[in-house]
Parts: sequence; C-alpha cells; structure tokens
Amino acid sequence: MDDHQGSKYDCLLFDIDDTVYPNSSGLSSQCTNNIIEFMTKNLGVDEHKAPQLCVSLYKEYGTTMAGLKATGYDFDYDHFHRFVHGRLPYEILKPDPALKSILQSLPIRKVVFSNANRDHVNMIINKLGLEGCFDDMICFETLNNQTTSPFILCKPSDDAFKQAFIKAKINIPHKTLFFDDSIRNLQTAKRMRLHTVWVGSAHREAGVDLALESIHNMREALPELWEDGDKNVSYSRKGKVGIETYVRA
Ligand SMILES: [Mg+2]
Repeated sequence: MDDHQGSKYDCLLFDIDDTVYPNSSGLSSQCTNNIIEFMTKNLGVDEHKAPQLCVSLYKEYGTTMAGLKATGYDFDYDHFHRFVHGRLPYEILKPDPALKSILQSLPIRKVVFSNANRDHVNMIINKLGLEGCFDDMICFETLNNQTTSPFILCKPSDDAFKQAFIKAKINIPHKTLFFDDSIRNLQTAKRMRLHTVWVGSAHREAGVDLALESIHNMREALPELWEDGDKNVSYSRKGKVGIETYVRA
C-alpha cells in the first residue's frame, strides 16, 4: 500500500476554540453566556431553564445551536453568530508568536476544523497573530451550505467528519493528526481512523493517542512532525508534555 510510503502524516487538522488558545482565557465561558442570553431574549426560553437546556442540547446534538435547530426553534444562523460571537471580548486574546513559529515551521499541510462560523475563526486567528499559518478552513459555513436542511452538521457527528475529509481533500485519514480539546470529537475522529491529540489535558482516555496540556508542547511531544521520511513513532516521552502512549503506525 502506497500510503505507508513517505511521511507518517500529510495533514494536521486543528480545532480552534480551547485548542489554539487555552480554556482559561475565559472566552468560551463568555460564549456560553451569550448563547444562554440568545435563548432567553430571542427564542423565549425561560431564563431559569436556559442554562440546563444549553448544556443538554450541546451534549445531545454537538452544539447548542444544532440542538435548538433540531428541536424546532426557528432562528437565523447569521443572527445567532452575530449575537453569540460578535459580542465576545476578543481583546483578551493576545498575539502568540511562539505558536505562530511552531505552526509556520511545520512542513505539513495544516487545516482548521471548527464548528464555529468563519468570522469567529478568522477573529481568533487574527487576535493570536496566526494569519497565514493554515492552508484551509472547515467551519460552520463549509458544512452547512444547504440552507434548506433542517439540521446543522457539526462535530462530533460522523457525517461532519466525512464532509470535512471531502472538503479538505483528506483521502487517507490515518495520515492525518487531529488536535481538539473535546473528548467526544476525538473519539469520533479515532473511529474515523484519524490519529488524535487531546489538547488541554494530561489524561489518558479511549480515543486519545496523545494528550498535551498545551498546544505549545507540540514540538517537544511530536518532534517527528518536523522530520522527513517514514518513521515509526513510539510515544515514549515522559514528563509534562504528553502521556506515554503508543500510536499504531
Ligand atoms: Mg474546541
């Protein structure tokens, strides 16, 4: 099989929120607050029930937005995104030249795979100073261009990954390394034969090949990404950067 020739990976797939910046930034919690406010102000959800509904829809449908749509709430996607993301305090994110240096030095194609809308992803990239670091982007608009569909396509569904593979021209999933902070996204990815990195955690879980406390630990935990040629990888490094884990070649 020719897919065992050459480098181990030919694509790096990156989630954005809580992956290329830390959850501790507070941006995601503010995003949740905005979603709950959207539910109460625009959809008539009882303010006492909105927080729990926000969580339960997120768990069942992948995103709260997808759950609201699937359970019959009618709203304009652009309105939702403007309300939820357009009011975020993006200024709390600061340029990250260290991450920029890591990404720019990687000799492998890099693709964003986010459930968020394009403007939000671009704003994150802009605030972190990561413009030009990614070769392609899979986002809300990429996966949901069928305006007549009653359902929103998003991670962690298998179909969202299948569409992402098509859009990002990922023909050999096991030659792609996927970075995400969401364990359920990683578990779908693993089922779809991607190699997986859990960002923001140092725990071993099913579906996770490697765990990094921070995306900044890539260089120490995955030096093979900077190497050419076909290398068998044994994840035997210890310490804070990652868990001892073996990844099947
Ligand atoms: Mg995320």
